[in-house]
Amino acid sequence: MVIAPSPLVPTAPWTDSFGRRHTYLRVSITDRCNFRCGYCMPAEGVNWRPRTEILSFEEIERLVRLFVRGGVTKVRLTGGEPTVRKDLEELIERLARIEGLGEVWMTTNGSTLAKKADAYRTAGLKGLNVSLDSLRRARFAEITRRDELPKVLDGIDAALAAGFRPLKINVVVMAGVNEDELLDFADFAVDRPVQVRFIEFMPFKGNEWQRGDLYPAAQMREDLRTRYRLAPLTVGPNAVAREFAIEGGKGSVAFVASMTESFCEGCNRLRLTADGMVKSCLFLRADGNLRDPLRTGADDETLARIVRDSLARKWKEHPPMENLLSTNDRSMLEIGG
Ligand code: SAM
Ligand code: SF4
Repeated sequence: MVIAPSPLVPTAPWTDSFGRRHTYLRVSITDRCNFRCGYCMPAEGVNWRPRTEILSFEEIERLVRLFVRGGVTKVRLTGGEPTVRKDLEELIERLARIEGLGEVWMTTNGSTLAKKADAYRTAGLKGLNVSLDSLRRARFAEITRRDELPKVLDGIDAALAAGFRPLKINVVVMAGVNEDELLDFADFAVDRPVQVRFIEFMPFKGNEWQRGDLYPAAQMREDLRTRYRLAPLTVGPNAVAREFAIEGGKGSVAFVASMTESFCEGCNRLRLTADGMVKSCLFLRADGNLRDPLRTGADDETLARIVRDSLARKWKEHPPMENLLSTNDRSMLEIGG
């Protein structure tokens, strides 16, 4: 069934109780994945949601239009792994055409880029984050439970050739797992026009996070400074990362320190899960069901009320890391980052 697009008449901005305006929407388009990263999903017992529970492209487009009406200007497609969704280019194209939506980005594990980077670009994808947690083949295979490092590296080359600039590389840094590769990743950014983003390991349902697994961003920066001079870059008020140029390098590095350097104050992010729930914070429960009312013919006003109710429950900042697990009811796989 094709749902008629709602006209893009602006509505009130998506503002929470602390006056933060939400202009960035992260849309998970599937809970399935072709990798099995241990820090993201449980080793066993993942129950994929039945396809009927997952939003169709028409439904995603309808909801993105609603979010754009309230001031969203950037959308990021994520998963699970967004590229396992059939005909993804069609969705990118549909979203890229929405008036007022300036940017469509995607976060991917990179496994399809060698073949598809050009097609995504042509469809209108503006930017890409590629996850890559090790440059060593055996370790990459251990972390992702897939021996696909060469394919992902080819994918990164293909994305650069297709014109994605800067290309962002997401590295989840885990103590005792890959923290010894920080300098190798900095070398990677010196040689290529990419931004390597070092992300602190966060606790989510099913990933068996322990405090000792955390490798703090301050320590990461210290490690990098043993080889490189880092010059701070100016970032916008909503940035989650602290960014640095590497002297003499083509690329840059950044640190996403959700655990040790909270950036809640400038938060402008909303999330839509693959099954159509609004989630106002990465660490809060998905609490606004948009899918069911959408499927029974709700108008934009009704749907907007659900989003605003969820936003009204958004907290000022997330609690200390030890308490985060109790607030999260989904694995990262089901949220999408
Ligand atoms: N499959 C895609 C990918 O891997 O890029 C998109 C979904 S993935 C859930 C989105 C991002 O979340 C990835 O960069 C991944 O590394 C990151 N991530 C997953 N679990 C995490 C955790 N426990 N702590 C920090 N980042 C995590
Ligand atoms: Fe899949 Fe991405 Fe999670 Fe890895 S991090 S299991 S690639 S969704």
